[in-house]
Amino acid sequence: MENNNPTPKPKDASKAVEKFLVSSASQLAPYLEACIHCGQCAHACHFYEVTQDPKYTPAYKLFPMTKAYRRSKNPLNWLGMIPTLEEDEIAEWQDLVFNGCTMCGRCTNVCPMGIDVAQIVGATRQALTAAGYYPEDLMAAAENVVQHGSPLKVSTSVLEDRLEWIADESETDIPLDKKGAEVMFTISSIELMKYPDSVGAMAKMLNAAGVNWTISTKGYESTNFGYLAGRPDIAKLGTSRLVNAAEELGVKELIIPECGHAYSVLRWNGANIMGRPLGFKVYHITEYLAKLKREGKLKFKSIETAFTYHDPCQISRRGGAADDARYLLEGFAPNFVEMKVTGNQNWCCGGGGGVQAMNKYRDMRINVFKIKAKQVEETGTNTMISACANCRLTMDESIAELKWGGKLDSLVEILADNLIED
Ligand code: SF4
Ligand code: SF4
Repeated sequence: MENNNPTPKPKDASKAVEKFLVSSASQLAPYLEACIHCGQCAHACHFYEVTQDPKYTPAYKLFPMTKAYRRSKNPLNWLGMIPTLEEDEIAEWQDLVFNGCTMCGRCTNVCPMGIDVAQIVGATRQALTAAGYYPEDLMAAAENVVQHGSPLKVSTSVLEDRLEWIADESETDIPLDKKGAEVMFTISSIELMKYPDSVGAMAKMLNAAGVNWTISTKGYESTNFGYLAGRPDIAKLGTSRLVNAAEELGVKELIIPECGHAYSVLRWNGANIMGRPLGFKVYHITEYLAKLKREGKLKFKSIETAFTYHDPCQISRRGGAADDARYLLEGFAPNFVEMKVTGNQNWCCGGGGGVQAMNKYRDMRINVFKIKAKQVEETGTNTMISACANCRLTMDESIAELKWGGKLDSLVEILADNLIED
């Protein structure tokens, strides 16, 4: 399936209203009715925490859709007496829902009404994008998926060259389009281009555990920038490439690498996006490695290094895999220390939901990182590890900018470096 839908232009506020009403007519209306304006969510949001600006309150991010919904329900609306949404307010919301929310879900944890602000922000992004209000840089990354197969323009030939180089460097095999493989492994172009050692590390562990796996040249990119940019057509294109490749290979398991939103999109939304069940099971790499360790197929040397773990929001809080990361560390890292606020309550890296791809909030991301840096320092270690390349990219940017004395590593790399191979 290829995508023939052009990027929406020009700006048209009425299209946003139309989309809001479609979303609020379905499953989101209860959320829009439920907010009791208690304000408890404010301090859960890293953007509010570092700015103290009320516009970053999670409840305020419900506002565009709530406003369109309430107007549509007002009897005066039927008489044409309610003014429509104005272009300038929609332009202001564009900044808020694209740059000002990482869709991390932390606010939902504290909301007494259980409102899923991240889900509403996702639907609001779709409405604004349909009306022509979107950040150019995020949309350019999404368009690259259509034109070049990936947001970082990793075409099939770039993939093949890069994997060959990584296989040589890591001294391991990386099978491509292997017939009869039972497991399909996917890559994120962020890792492939910026953190190639993590791809080599994952390959090394899958080989050591005797997994019959492959990467497919027909569907390899696990990130889904169409989803983040509010483009359901591109989200479906990216998802279809993976699903079709996995089903053509006949695999029963598909692994998402160290990328949070990639896991969240395929694992929790893949079947809805496709409109049918998937013919295979989706794992995040931490889940898959934990499964291999439980089956006795992976063993690690214990290490003395003290470190802490940054939970990627989409893998722990919204993914349910917080315990698998800890299980992998059991017996391996006796000096592991938890941050005070951790696991499903973790603080976001500040770059999820596509915010990392938008230049405008660079300074904001760096300020958000100060929350994390303080948390790490309080553990008494100076190293944190994580399992998401996007978190890593976001925090590495801040580490360099702030000349922070601590260090950030990848969970899969540290495990592969201490693998016991027969
Ligand atoms: S989902 Fe995260 S970033 Fe978005 S409003 Fe809630 S806490 Fe803030
Ligand atoms: S915590 Fe929930 S109910 Fe309270 S203001 Fe925030 S979104 Fe509304």
